Amino acid sequence: MYKTILVPVDLGHPEAGKKTAAIARELGGAGTRIVLLHVVADVPSFVTAELPSGLMQKNAERARATLKDIASGIGAEAEVRNGHPSTEIIDSAKRLGADLIVIASHRPGLQDYFLGSTASRVVRHATCAVLVDR
Ligand code: ADP
Repeated sequence: MYKTILVPVDLGHPEAGKKTAAIARELGGAGTRIVLLHVVADVPSFVTAELPSGLMQKNAERARATLKDIASGIGAEAEVRNGHPSTEIIDSAKRLGADLIVIASHRPGLQDYFLGSTASRVVRHATCAVLVDR
């Protein structure tokens, strides 16, 4: 039914990502493309200037390896991008021609919140269907 499913994964909470990735796998058919996306939030240059050299690159490489690990378990692709998480998720869905985004509602342990800030922006502004896992 779905041609391309985008699964945004916050690697600070990989368990939620594994769950939404598994949901995408179940919803997708044999020919469905599933893309896991982690967005490394932009850090202001006055902060990066104070960090040990190569630290940001090392973090991005570690993120890519962790995401690839989750993706390989379900035959998905992994993408790591820099930017503002909700903006990058919405833009990536358009760029990839995704017809569904599967996203977790909030970080684990914050059950009092109906929707986290990233999830709520994606629900409001995405131009394709969004499944919110609670
Ligand atoms: P909270 O504000 O409770 O942390 P969020 O709305 O930020 O909740 O997170 C909910 C979901 O949004 C995450 O499980 C993930 O699916 C997505 N998300 C949040 N941050 C990122 C990120 N940096 N990269 C990719 N997806 C993210």
